[in-house]
Amino acid sequence: MDDAARTYTLADLETWSRPGTSLAVLGHPIKHSISPAMHNAALAVLARADARFADWRYFRFEVPPEELPRALELLHAKKFRGVNLTVPHKILAFASPRVVEIDPAARPVGAINTLRHRAEGWEGFNTDGHGLASGLREDLGAELAGSPVILLGAGGAARGAAVECLQRGVASLWIANRTRENLDALLTQLAPLAGEIPVHGFDPRQPPAALPVAGALIINATSAGLKPTDPLPLDLTSLPAPSSATGDTARPRAVYDMIYNPPETPLLAAARARGLPAANGLSMLVHQGARSLELWSGAAVPVAAMSEAARAALAAR
Ligand code: NDP
Repeated sequence: MDDAARTYTLADLETWSRPGTSLAVLGHPIKHSISPAMHNAALAVLARADARFADWRYFRFEVPPEELPRALELLHAKKFRGVNLTVPHKILAFASPRVVEIDPAARPVGAINTLRHRAEGWEGFNTDGHGLASGLREDLGAELAGSPVILLGAGGAARGAAVECLQRGVASLWIANRTRENLDALLTQLAPLAGEIPVHGFDPRQPPAALPVAGALIINATSAGLKPTDPLPLDLTSLPAPSSATGDTARPRAVYDMIYNPPETPLLAAARARGLPAANGLSMLVHQGARSLELWSGAAVPVAAMSEAARAALAAR
């Protein structure tokens, strides 16, 4: 019971007896998750400097939604130190009675991706927003604070990104989504958090003339781009040119796509073709994982080792 390359199930958890400190990621599907490679690489580095981490391992578990309550109960009873949650568990876990406390910063997101063991139950966090902000900084030298942001999508990832944008004080937030009712639902959820920050929605097929394109960070949080046949989530050539600005000052600051597989989506290719700085979501994945490991270990996490392992695992897929 110590094979970090294996995919485990609830049945394995029922009989789990590993003595070392265990961590897990739960998802459905989970087989292709690169989180075990990333976390175990970081743990190997930590163990070289501190023997406390020598028996720490991170495992993947295939858990369909109906098995989540039992899985959370067993993981707690078996004293797993921490858990990551991915599709479709982030919202389900948020509402779970096994999660006894939720980090205040995660509450407006309505979803959690990290659990930390406490005697009386799980403590929930959401590290995706930190991952996004750190990825933007690392890959593009960009800060959310003070930037106009054009966010594409209104699903779970977009909601997390939008909350992070508002918590970090963006200059304005413009959200585009294909389906108007999903956009409206997100705008309603965000309204109490916006404060002085202007938040608007628009149809990506008809970008409004008032869209603050100059210097904007464009962030794709849709799943358009996962498949080669997907349409662009936003046609960059359709963006209005600000009348008062010319050349570089009229252009977006950069384009970030949360998708990292494929590594270059059509949106990123279009951005690069226009000479715009562009990056994919691998840095977000790495930094959300690094923040989770920091919460579990209290140690300074070797982010570069996680990044290297994530790239290698993706290349080997
Ligand atoms: P959801 O299913 O919750 O939301 C999907 C979103 O994509 C909706 O806004 C949907 O619009 C839109 N969409 C789907 N297909 C199309 C299309 N063909 N054209 C235009 N819009 C489309 O997914 P998530 O929010 O959980 O995830 C979104 C993306 O973010 C995924 O690709 C995921 O891999 C990525 N992600 C990356 C992370 C990272 O660490 N890098 C972390 C989390 C997510 P509509 O409302 O109209 O259906």
